Amino acid sequence: MTFATLGLIEPLLRALETLGYQTPTPVQAQAIPAVLAGRDLMAAAQTGTGKTAGFAVPLLQLLTMEGPKVAANSARALILCPTRELAEQVHASVAEYAQHLPLTTYAVYGGVSINPQMMKLRKGVDILVATPGRLIDLFRQNALKLNQLQTLVLDEADRMLDLGFSEELANIYRMLPKKRQTLLFSATFSDEIRTLAGQMLNDPLSIEVSPRNVAANTVKQWVVPVDKKRKPELFVHLMRKGRWKQVLVFAKTRNGVDALVDKLQGLGINADGIHGDKPQATRQRALDRFKSSEVQILVATDVAARGLDIEDLPLVVNFDLPIVAEDYIHRIGRTGRAGNTGEAISLVCADEVNMLSAIEMLTRQTLTRKMEPDFEPEHRVPDTDASGQVVKKPKKPKKPKASGGGGKRNLGKWVDSGEVAPSEPSIKPVRKVPVFNTGPRKKK
Ligand code: AMP
Repeated sequence: MTFATLGLIEPLLRALETLGYQTPTPVQAQAIPAVLAGRDLMAAAQTGTGKTAGFAVPLLQLLTMEGPKVAANSARALILCPTRELAEQVHASVAEYAQHLPLTTYAVYGGVSINPQMMKLRKGVDILVATPGRLIDLFRQNALKLNQLQTLVLDEADRMLDLGFSEELANIYRMLPKKRQTLLFSATFSDEIRTLAGQMLNDPLSIEVSPRNVAANTVKQWVVPVDKKRKPELFVHLMRKGRWKQVLVFAKTRNGVDALVDKLQGLGINADGIHGDKPQATRQRALDRFKSSEVQILVATDVAARGLDIEDLPLVVNFDLPIVAEDYIHRIGRTGRAGNTGEAISLVCADEVNMLSAIEMLTRQTLTRKMEPDFEPEHRVPDTDASGQVVKKPKKPKKPKASGGGGKRNLGKWVDSGEVAPSEPSIKPVRKVPVFNTGPRKKK
């Protein structure tokens, strides 16, 4: 199958050829004809499957072939994304696909001044990529009207709900014309997403390009059990041993990101971090420098890293496991993209066992464990498997204390960083994680 056989017009075929896209990916093969036929779509597509072109390319064709010229302060198609970075990335792809078409595209998101965005919208844009909050602001300030809207795309809909955007989505829904095409993309399909789809979609075509909730099989995944306090040390050890060149590292909290970056920079390692507390320009700069290999290690929270497409990223490290199991799939989806192979290594400590178990259940696989010599944990990570069972073996008899230092201690900001920063609301109600006894510990 070729893009030409899917009925795409010449300017689009030329753009795809320039980008080196030779054959449609499975999601593109299914989505492109359906979107061209005007159908609503409910697509379960993992990251890295080519879903952006799957919706953007046929959308560009429809906008070129049909409908009136865009009016002032209007948009003919709206693509909603959960984060600023994803909005930028989707917009960059859309602009590339549209390079030979007489259409205008633009991206709006929060964290930057609204005035230039209002100016830009005056003439209207054919395709607007937006994050929900900023879209509503622009609408309320009369900078944007939506009565000309032909198509709405919800990209990474599951993440938008995870980030607490359900109210914004309901507001946006009320702002839209009733007669429109709606395309919903989501890597995972919870009941909440299905409810949203039921409200927003009209007789949708369902597309599922990979088994539900299964991570890309081009990614080799394994787990290294380790004590929580030794994670930074293990990370540096593995990095040196494996001669890691470019690694995207996920930490649970903003403090966790900053602490790891400080530690790595202190060792002379070229590292930078992104999280929701940092200004947008700083985040974008760190990401650009990572993409161009100026920065070797990029440490990120989930909210900042969602949906990023980094070409040929060989390795993702979960310094902390994600609290929401679905995020594991998104994280490791940063590697092994578009058919490349990749590796995903998770440093797992005993009190993350329930998260590990939830991930194994979701991905329907038991992750291989590789003990790293000299880093065997003192606090055993109980056995887990894809059935969701956590097998608690009786504890080994404890060694006698060398000195009086037992009991729970403050382990510094590396460890007990269970706090979650308030404005990164990606956290769903969590299953209770057992608290493991932290003492006695080895004397160094
Ligand atoms: P996405 O899932 O949309 O983020 O796309 C993942 C990556 O695959 C991006 O770098 C795209 O440029 C690339 N890509 C998308 N479609 C194709 C295709 N048909 N052939 C080759 N690469 C593609």
